Amino acid sequence: MSQKALGKHFRKGISLIEITRMFPNDHVAEAWFEKQRWGAVGKPSTCPICSKSGKISSVPSRKPLPYWCGSCRRNFSVKTNSVMHRSHIGYQKWAMAIYLWTTTLKGVSSMKLHRDLEITQKSAYFMAQRLRKAWDVSGLEKMIGPAEADETYMGGKRRNMSNAKRKTQTGQGAVGKVAVAGIKDRKSNRVVANVVGSTEKDTLQGFIKDNVETGSELYTDEHASYPGIDGYSHKSVRHSCNEYVKGVVHTNGVESFWAMFKRAHKGTYHKMSLKYLQRYVDEFTTRHNLRSSDTAKMMQDTVAMMDGKRLTYADLIADSGLESGARK
Ligand SMILES: [Zn+2]
Repeated sequence: MSQKALGKHFRKGISLIEITRMFPNDHVAEAWFEKQRWGAVGKPSTCPICSKSGKISSVPSRKPLPYWCGSCRRNFSVKTNSVMHRSHIGYQKWAMAIYLWTTTLKGVSSMKLHRDLEITQKSAYFMAQRLRKAWDVSGLEKMIGPAEADETYMGGKRRNMSNAKRKTQTGQGAVGKVAVAGIKDRKSNRVVANVVGSTEKDTLQGFIKDNVETGSELYTDEHASYPGIDGYSHKSVRHSCNEYVKGVVHTNGVESFWAMFKRAHKGTYHKMSLKYLQRYVDEFTTRHNLRSSDTAKMMQDTVAMMDGKRLTYADLIADSGLESGARK
Protein backbone atom coordinates (compact mmCIF):
# COMPACT_ATOMS: atom_id res chain seq x y z
CA MET A 1 0.00 0.00 0.00
CA SER A 2 1.35 3.40 -0.82
CA GLN A 3 1.98 5.86 1.96
CA LYS A 4 -0.58 8.16 0.42
CA ALA A 5 -3.20 5.45 0.74
CA LEU A 6 -2.33 5.19 4.41
CA GLY A 7 -3.19 8.84 4.77
CA LYS A 8 0.31 9.83 5.72
CA HIS A 9 0.96 13.55 5.63
CA PHE A 10 4.06 14.55 3.73
CA ARG A 11 5.55 17.68 5.15
CA LYS A 12 6.63 20.29 2.68
CA GLY A 13 10.23 21.32 3.08
CA ILE A 14 12.10 24.36 1.83
CA SER A 15 15.34 23.82 -0.05
CA LEU A 16 18.48 25.83 0.56
CA ILE A 17 18.01 27.40 -2.87
CA GLU A 18 14.42 28.38 -2.08
CA ILE A 19 15.35 29.90 1.24
CA THR A 20 17.96 32.13 -0.37
CA ARG A 21 15.31 33.28 -2.86
CA MET A 22 12.81 33.90 -0.05
CA PHE A 23 15.26 36.08 1.88
CA PRO A 24 17.54 37.77 -0.67
CA ASN A 25 18.33 40.70 1.63
CA ASP A 26 17.55 42.33 4.99
CA HIS A 27 14.76 44.46 3.58
CA VAL A 28 12.72 41.52 2.31
CA ALA A 29 13.42 39.55 5.49
CA GLU A 30 12.33 42.48 7.68
CA ALA A 31 9.01 42.63 5.80
CA TRP A 32 8.59 38.89 6.36
CA PHE A 33 9.08 39.32 10.11
CA GLU A 34 6.56 42.18 10.16
CA LYS A 35 4.03 40.06 8.31
CA GLN A 36 4.51 37.19 10.79
CA ARG A 37 4.45 39.30 13.95
CA TRP A 38 2.00 42.03 13.03
CA GLY A 39 -0.11 40.39 10.34
CA ALA A 40 0.91 42.89 7.65
CA VAL A 41 3.99 44.63 6.32
CA GLY A 42 4.60 48.12 7.71
CA LYS A 43 3.67 49.76 10.98
CA PRO A 44 1.66 47.62 13.41
CA SER A 45 -1.78 48.55 14.70
CA THR A 46 -0.64 48.33 18.32
CA CYS A 47 2.64 49.30 19.92
CA PRO A 48 4.85 46.32 20.93
CA ILE A 49 6.03 48.29 23.98
CA CYS A 50 2.89 49.84 25.54
CA SER A 51 0.24 47.91 23.56
CA LYS A 52 -1.65 51.11 22.74
CA SER A 53 -2.94 51.81 19.27
CA GLY A 54 -3.65 54.86 17.20
CA LYS A 55 -0.51 56.95 17.54
CA ILE A 56 2.01 54.89 15.61
CA SER A 57 3.94 56.34 12.73
CA SER A 58 6.64 55.23 10.33
CA VAL A 59 9.94 57.02 10.59
CA PRO A 60 12.15 55.28 8.01
CA SER A 61 15.03 57.65 8.73
CA ARG A 62 15.22 56.28 12.28
CA LYS A 63 16.34 52.81 11.18
CA PRO A 64 17.09 50.39 12.78
CA LEU A 65 14.03 51.54 14.80
CA PRO A 66 11.76 52.74 11.98
CA TYR A 67 8.52 53.17 13.95
CA TRP A 68 7.45 55.68 16.57
CA CYS A 69 4.73 55.35 19.19
CA GLY A 70 3.20 58.65 20.26
CA SER A 71 1.68 57.08 23.37
CA CYS A 72 4.85 55.82 25.06
CA ARG A 73 7.08 58.10 22.96
CA ARG A 74 9.46 55.29 22.02
CA ASN A 75 11.01 54.13 18.77
CA PHE A 76 10.78 50.47 17.93
CA SER A 77 11.21 47.83 15.24
CA VAL A 78 9.87 44.36 14.55
CA LYS A 79 12.63 43.03 16.82
CA THR A 80 11.30 44.98 19.81
CA ASN A 81 9.76 42.94 22.61
CA SER A 82 10.80 39.59 21.17
CA VAL A 83 13.86 37.41 21.63
CA MET A 84 15.47 39.52 18.85
CA HIS A 85 15.21 42.60 21.07
CA ARG A 86 18.36 44.73 20.68
CA SER A 87 20.06 42.12 18.51
CA HIS A 88 22.48 43.68 16.05
CA ILE A 89 22.21 40.75 13.68
CA GLY A 90 20.35 41.57 10.46
CA TYR A 91 16.95 40.23 9.46
CA GLN A 92 18.23 38.04 6.64
CA LYS A 93 20.57 36.24 9.05
CA TRP A 94 17.80 35.87 11.61
CA ALA A 95 15.52 34.31 9.02
CA MET A 96 18.27 31.94 7.89
CA ALA A 97 19.01 31.03 11.51
CA ILE A 98 15.35 30.14 12.09
CA TYR A 99 15.45 28.02 8.96
CA LEU A 100 18.52 26.12 10.18
CA TRP A 101 17.09 25.85 13.68
CA THR A 102 13.81 24.33 12.55
CA THR A 103 15.14 22.02 9.85
CA THR A 104 18.16 20.47 11.57
CA LEU A 105 16.94 17.55 13.63
CA LYS A 106 20.01 17.19 15.79
CA GLY A 107 20.27 20.84 16.68
CA VAL A 108 22.53 23.61 15.43
CA SER A 109 25.80 24.31 17.22
CA SER A 110 26.75 27.93 17.62
CA MET A 111 29.90 27.06 15.65
CA LYS A 112 27.70 26.24 12.68
CA LEU A 113 25.74 29.48 13.04
CA HIS A 114 29.05 31.33 13.27
CA ARG A 115 30.34 29.81 10.04
CA ASP A 116 27.14 29.65 7.98
CA LEU A 117 25.88 33.12 8.86
CA GLU A 118 29.27 34.84 8.94
CA ILE A 119 28.74 36.22 12.42
CA THR A 120 31.16 36.18 15.37
CA GLN A 121 31.22 33.16 17.67
CA LYS A 122 29.91 35.31 20.47
CA SER A 123 26.99 36.58 18.40
CA ALA A 124 26.27 33.03 17.27
CA TYR A 125 26.25 31.82 20.83
CA PHE A 126 23.82 34.54 21.95
CA MET A 127 21.64 33.94 18.90
CA ALA A 128 21.34 30.25 19.82
CA GLN A 129 20.37 31.19 23.37
CA ARG A 130 17.72 33.56 22.03
CA LEU A 131 16.30 30.84 19.78
CA ARG A 132 16.22 28.42 22.73
CA LYS A 133 14.34 31.04 24.73
CA ALA A 134 11.77 31.34 21.92
CA TRP A 135 11.24 27.60 22.04
CA ASP A 136 10.71 27.57 25.79
CA VAL A 137 6.99 26.91 25.86
CA SER A 138 5.46 26.00 29.15
CA GLY A 139 1.86 26.00 30.23
CA LEU A 140 0.43 24.22 27.19
CA GLU A 141 -2.85 22.43 27.68
CA LYS A 142 -2.82 18.98 29.23
CA MET A 143 -2.40 15.87 27.14
CA ILE A 144 -5.35 13.54 26.81
CA GLY A 145 -3.43 10.33 26.26
CA PRO A 146 -2.76 7.56 25.79
CA ALA A 147 0.45 8.90 27.26
CA GLU A 148 3.86 7.28 27.71
CA ALA A 149 5.87 8.49 30.69
CA ASP A 150 9.53 7.74 31.26
CA GLU A 151 12.61 9.19 32.89
CA THR A 152 16.22 9.32 31.85
CA TYR A 153 19.56 10.62 33.03
CA MET A 154 21.94 12.98 31.34
CA GLY A 155 25.63 13.16 32.17
CA GLY A 156 27.45 11.24 34.87
CA LYS A 157 28.52 7.66 34.69
CA ARG A 158 25.07 6.18 34.33
CA ARG A 159 25.58 6.31 30.60
CA ASN A 160 27.82 3.29 30.96
CA MET A 161 25.32 1.29 33.00
CA SER A 162 22.89 -1.17 31.58
CA ASN A 163 19.39 0.15 31.16
CA ALA A 164 18.04 -2.22 33.79
CA LYS A 165 20.63 -1.23 36.35
CA ARG A 166 20.13 2.45 35.70
CA LYS A 167 16.43 2.11 36.27
CA THR A 168 16.93 0.58 39.67
CA GLN A 169 18.89 3.61 40.82
CA THR A 170 16.18 6.06 41.62
CA GLY A 171 17.93 8.23 44.18
CA GLN A 172 20.13 11.27 43.98
CA GLY A 173 23.28 9.27 44.72
CA ALA A 174 25.84 9.49 41.91
CA VAL A 175 27.45 12.80 41.16
CA GLY A 176 27.21 14.62 37.86
CA LYS A 177 23.96 13.31 36.45
CA VAL A 178 20.64 14.97 36.08
CA ALA A 179 17.26 13.28 35.82
CA VAL A 180 14.83 14.32 33.12
CA ALA A 181 11.16 13.28 33.19
CA GLY A 182 9.29 13.05 29.91
CA ILE A 183 5.84 12.24 28.56
CA LYS A 184 4.74 11.58 25.01
CA ASP A 185 1.09 11.91 24.05
CA ARG A 186 0.28 9.33 21.41
CA LYS A 187 -2.70 11.14 19.92
CA SER A 188 -1.05 14.51 19.35
CA ASN A 189 2.51 13.15 19.18
CA ARG A 190 3.51 15.96 21.54
CA VAL A 191 6.38 15.55 24.00
CA VAL A 192 6.85 17.42 27.25
CA ALA A 193 10.01 17.06 29.35
CA ASN A 194 11.44 18.64 32.45
CA VAL A 195 14.67 18.44 34.35
CA VAL A 196 13.66 17.07 37.75
CA GLY A 197 15.47 17.10 41.06
CA SER A 198 14.77 13.43 41.72
CA THR A 199 12.93 10.44 40.34
CA GLU A 200 10.97 9.82 43.52
CA LYS A 201 7.30 9.06 43.46
CA ASP A 202 6.02 12.55 44.31
CA THR A 203 8.13 14.19 41.64
CA LEU A 204 7.38 11.84 38.75
CA GLN A 205 3.69 11.45 39.59
CA GLY A 206 3.36 15.21 40.10
CA PHE A 207 4.89 15.80 36.67
CA ILE A 208 2.34 13.45 35.10
CA LYS A 209 -0.55 15.11 36.94
CA ASP A 210 0.61 18.53 35.75
CA ASN A 211 0.69 17.45 32.13
CA VAL A 212 -1.84 14.68 31.52
CA GLU A 213 -5.60 14.86 32.04
CA THR A 214 -6.81 12.52 34.74
CA GLY A 215 -8.65 9.52 33.41
CA SER A 216 -6.14 9.07 30.57
CA GLU A 217 -4.38 5.83 29.65
CA LEU A 218 -0.84 5.93 31.02
CA TYR A 219 2.01 3.61 30.05
CA THR A 220 5.37 3.35 31.80
CA ASP A 221 8.09 0.84 32.53
CA GLU A 222 8.39 -0.85 35.92
CA HIS A 223 10.10 2.06 37.67
CA ALA A 224 8.97 2.02 41.30
CA SER A 225 7.69 5.59 41.25
CA TYR A 226 4.80 5.00 38.87
CA PRO A 227 2.61 2.23 40.36
CA GLY A 228 -0.33 3.43 42.40
CA ILE A 229 -0.70 6.73 40.60
CA ASP A 230 -4.19 8.00 41.28
CA GLY A 231 -6.72 8.84 38.60
CA TYR A 232 -5.10 7.16 35.59
CA SER A 233 -5.50 3.86 33.85
CA HIS A 234 -1.89 2.83 34.39
CA LYS A 235 -0.19 -0.14 32.76
CA SER A 236 3.50 -0.98 32.60
CA VAL A 237 6.04 -3.17 30.87
CA ARG A 238 8.95 -4.83 32.65
CA HIS A 239 12.14 -3.84 30.90
CA SER A 240 14.22 -5.74 33.45
CA CYS A 241 12.56 -8.96 32.23
CA ASN A 242 13.14 -7.97 28.60
CA GLU A 243 9.48 -7.10 28.20
CA TYR A 244 9.30 -4.02 26.00
CA VAL A 245 5.95 -4.21 24.25
CA LYS A 246 2.75 -5.69 25.61
CA GLY A 247 0.08 -4.88 23.04
CA VAL A 248 -0.42 -1.13 23.20
CA VAL A 249 1.56 -0.94 26.42
CA HIS A 250 5.07 0.35 25.73
CA THR A 251 7.21 3.45 26.08
CA ASN A 252 8.91 3.31 22.69
CA GLY A 253 7.73 6.79 21.64
CA VAL A 254 9.18 8.66 24.59
CA GLU A 255 12.31 6.51 24.44
CA SER A 256 12.96 7.39 20.82
CA PHE A 257 12.75 11.02 21.90
CA TRP A 258 15.44 10.36 24.55
CA ALA A 259 17.57 8.63 21.93
CA MET A 260 17.36 11.66 19.64
CA PHE A 261 18.17 14.00 22.49
CA LYS A 262 21.18 11.95 23.52
CA ARG A 263 22.52 11.69 19.99
CA ALA A 264 22.34 15.48 19.74
CA HIS A 265 24.06 15.79 23.09
CA LYS A 266 26.88 13.64 21.86
CA GLY A 267 27.09 14.83 18.29
CA THR A 268 26.15 18.51 18.19
CA TYR A 269 26.40 19.91 21.68
CA HIS A 270 29.46 18.14 22.96
CA LYS A 271 29.41 20.05 26.19
CA MET A 272 25.74 20.63 26.84
CA SER A 273 25.91 22.18 30.27
CA LEU A 274 23.90 20.19 32.78
CA LYS A 275 23.31 23.36 34.72
CA TYR A 276 21.34 24.77 31.80
CA LEU A 277 20.00 21.45 30.57
CA GLN A 278 16.39 22.65 30.68
CA ARG A 279 17.09 25.07 27.82
CA TYR A 280 18.23 22.19 25.63
CA VAL A 281 15.31 20.04 26.77
CA ASP A 282 12.96 22.85 25.68
CA GLU A 283 14.77 23.16 22.37
CA PHE A 284 14.42 19.47 21.56
CA THR A 285 10.84 19.06 22.76
CA THR A 286 9.70 22.03 20.70
CA ARG A 287 11.63 20.88 17.63
CA HIS A 288 9.96 17.50 18.02
CA ASN A 289 6.53 19.06 18.54
CA LEU A 290 6.75 21.29 15.47
CA ARG A 291 8.32 18.66 13.27
CA SER A 292 5.22 17.32 11.56
CA SER A 293 4.47 20.75 10.09
CA ASP A 294 5.69 22.13 6.78
CA THR A 295 8.95 24.06 7.12
CA ALA A 296 7.25 27.39 6.38
CA LYS A 297 4.77 26.73 9.18
CA MET A 298 7.55 25.73 11.59
CA MET A 299 9.30 29.02 10.84
CA GLN A 300 6.09 31.02 11.32
CA ASP A 301 5.37 29.25 14.60
CA THR A 302 8.90 30.02 15.78
CA VAL A 303 8.43 33.74 15.10
CA ALA A 304 5.12 33.61 17.00
CA MET A 305 6.94 31.97 19.92
CA MET A 306 9.52 34.78 19.95
CA ASP A 307 6.85 37.27 20.86
CA GLY A 308 7.03 38.96 24.26
CA LYS A 309 10.11 37.00 25.31
CA ARG A 310 13.29 38.85 26.10
CA LEU A 311 16.64 37.75 27.37
CA THR A 312 18.44 39.92 29.82
CA TYR A 313 22.14 40.36 29.36
CA ALA A 314 22.64 38.24 32.46
CA ASP A 315 20.61 35.43 30.87
CA LEU A 316 22.71 35.67 27.77
CA ILE A 317 26.07 35.46 29.47
CA ALA A 318 24.96 33.04 32.19
CA ASP A 319 26.48 29.97 30.61
CA SER A 320 28.63 31.43 27.86
CA GLY A 321 31.68 29.32 27.22
CA LEU A 322 29.72 26.12 27.65
CA GLU A 323 30.31 24.87 24.15
CA SER A 324 34.01 25.56 24.35
CA GLY A 325 34.07 23.36 27.41
CA ALA A 326 35.23 26.12 29.74
CA ARG A 327 32.64 25.10 32.29
CA LYS A 328 30.91 21.93 33.22
ZN1 LIG B 1 3.90 52.58 22.80
